[in-house]
Amino acid sequence: ALGYNQAVKENKNLYNTLQELRGNIRVFCRIRPLLHLESISSIEHVGNDGSVMVCDPVKPQSTRKIFQFNKVFGPTTTQDEVYKETQSLIRSVMDGYNVCIFAYGQTGSGKTHTMCGPSGGLAKDFGINYMALNDLFNISTSREDVKYDIRVQMVEIYNEQVRDLLNIRASLSNGPLNLPDAKICPVQSPSDVINLMQLGEKHRASGSTAMNHRSSRSHSILTVHVNGKDIAGNVSRSSLHLVDLAGSERVDRSEATGDRLKEAQHINKSLSCLGDVINALAQKNSHIPYRNSKLTQLLQSSLGRNAKMLMFAHISPEAESWAETLGTLKFAQRTSSVELGTAQANKESSEIRELKEQVDTLKKALASKE
Ligand code: ADP
Ligand code: MG
Repeated sequence: ALGYNQAVKENKNLYNTLQELRGNIRVFCRIRPLLHLESISSIEHVGNDGSVMVCDPVKPQSTRKIFQFNKVFGPTTTQDEVYKETQSLIRSVMDGYNVCIFAYGQTGSGKTHTMCGPSGGLAKDFGINYMALNDLFNISTSREDVKYDIRVQMVEIYNEQVRDLLNIRASLSNGPLNLPDAKICPVQSPSDVINLMQLGEKHRASGSTAMNHRSSRSHSILTVHVNGKDIAGNVSRSSLHLVDLAGSERVDRSEATGDRLKEAQHINKSLSCLGDVINALAQKNSHIPYRNSKLTQLLQSSLGRNAKMLMFAHISPEAESWAETLGTLKFAQRTSSVELGTAQANKESSEIRELKEQVDTLKKALASKE
C-alpha cells in the first residue's frame, strides 16, 4: 500500500510539473510588410509550422538561418488572424489566469501596430489591446453564472521612471513601486476603453516634445484587472498585462551621447532583465531576478510560474535591418526554446506513462489481495 501511495504522489507531482511546463511561455514572430521605398527583404521563407528562414540579402549563402517559434505570422497576416491565435490565451483571464503579452522588436518593426493598430490609432484595424477588451466584455455579458468587474490601468516606464498615464499629476517614481498605486479606472464598455486609451496616449505625448521618440524609448503597459464572482460566492481575480516594449535596437555607442545614451542603457538593461526573468522561470530557478529592473518589478505578480506569457517578436524585413532582425530572432529563440523543447516534454510524459502503468499494476495487486 505504501508503494501505491508513493506512486500516486509521484505521479501527481510529475503531472503538476508537466502542466506547469506546458506552454506557459509562447513566442510568436510577426513580420511586417515591406513599406514604401523598401524593396529587398531578408525573409526567405515563412513556414506554417512556426519556422522562418532568413538571410542577409547581401550575402545570402553565408548568413542563411532557420528559426523556430510557436507561430510565425508573415507580412500579409491581418490583425484578425493574429488576434484569433491570441484569443484563447486572453480568454483564460476570465477563468482566473494571469496573462502577460509583450510586443518586442526594434523601432519601426510593428509593435504598436500589433498592440494598438496602425500608427497607434484606434479608429480601424484594431490591435490586440482593443480586441482583447472587447472580447472580455463579450464574455462577461454572456455569462449569467458569473458577475465580472473589469478595470484598467495604463503606465509607462521611461528611463526607469514610472508614469501613470491615466493620472499624470501623480508621480509614481518616488513611492513604493506597485501597480496598484496607479489610477485604476472601471470600464463598462468598449467605448470606455477607447476613451481611456486615447487619454493615455495624449498624456504620453504631453510629457515630451518629440512624442514619437519618447514612445519608442519607453515601455507602455496596459493592465486589465478582472474580478469575477459566481452564484456560489466564489471569487476569482486575475490580470492581463499588454506591454508595448521600448525599441530593442542597439544604439551605436560612438554616436549616442547624453540623453540618447542614457535612454539606450536603460532600455538594454530592462530588456535583458526581462529575458533573464523569463529564462529563470523557464529553468525553474529558485531565484527569479525581478528586482533588477522596473519593468520586471512592476510585472512581478504576473510574471510567475502560474502566469501565461506570450511574446510577439517583431521583425522589420528590409535588408538594412538585418543586424537587428538577427538580434530579435536570437533573443526570441532563447526565450522560447528553453521552455518549449519538445524533448523535455516527451521525457516527462513518458515518465508519467510509466508511473501510470505502475499505479495500475499496484491497484490490481491491491484488488486481488482484498
Ligand atoms: P513600432 O511600434 O515597433 O515602432 P509601428 O507599429 O509604429 O512600429 O510600425 C512602423 C510602421 O510600419 C508604421 O507605419 C506601421 O503602420 C507599419 N506597419 C507595422 N506593422 C504593419 C503590418 N503588419 N501591416 C502594415 N503596416 C504595418
Ligand atoms: Mg511603437
